[in-house]
Amino acid sequence: MECKSCGAPLGKDEIAIYKRLVDRGAPDGDCVCKSCLAARLMVPVEAIDAKIEHFKSIGCTLFK
Ligand SMILES: [Zn+2]
Repeated sequence: MECKSCGAPLGKDEIAIYKRLVDRGAPDGDCVCKSCLAARLMVPVEAIDAKIEHFKSIGCTLFK
């Protein structure tokens, strides 16, 4: 799977955080990498990493 926006390889966590923050029903092919997601949400990439850790820590099912 690749970022829809920049073509970078997408990690499992990046697909999950896109779904969690943008559109839970999005197909994997619509997902973007965390750099593009951060730019889109106008937050630093570190904020996306923190969100990933947060949702993992609360046991969000998207991050299995
Ligand atoms: Zn990207």
